[in-house]
Amino acid sequence: MSESIESKLENYFQMLDRQKLKELREQHLQESASKEKEELKNLHYMHCPKCGTKMEPIMMHNIEIDKCPDCLGIYFDNSELEQLLEIEFDKRRTLVRKIFGLK
Ligand SMILES: [Zn+2]
Repeated sequence: MSESIESKLENYFQMLDRQKLKELREQHLQESASKEKEELKNLHYMHCPKCGTKMEPIMMHNIEIDKCPDCLGIYFDNSELEQLLEIEFDKRRTLVRKIFGLK
């Protein structure tokens, strides 16, 4: 029993359609995921993780630190904390006291 050429062609095109659909679904999923990530970033970027107030960047010793004007929380990026730790001890102590509003 042999398949007709029409039947073979039909199967072939169905297979192509399935492949194309699969690719489109995957593409759609990837686009939705990155869109969702972008929306989350826009919603949270530079907002205090504790109270949600927009944080303000402050420059201290050439290090940019993000401070919440409401709850006074401080946020350090990875490299900012590292830079702070590289400052010599006395200057660092003064700086940390200044950042946290201590005397
Ligand atoms: Zn806050």
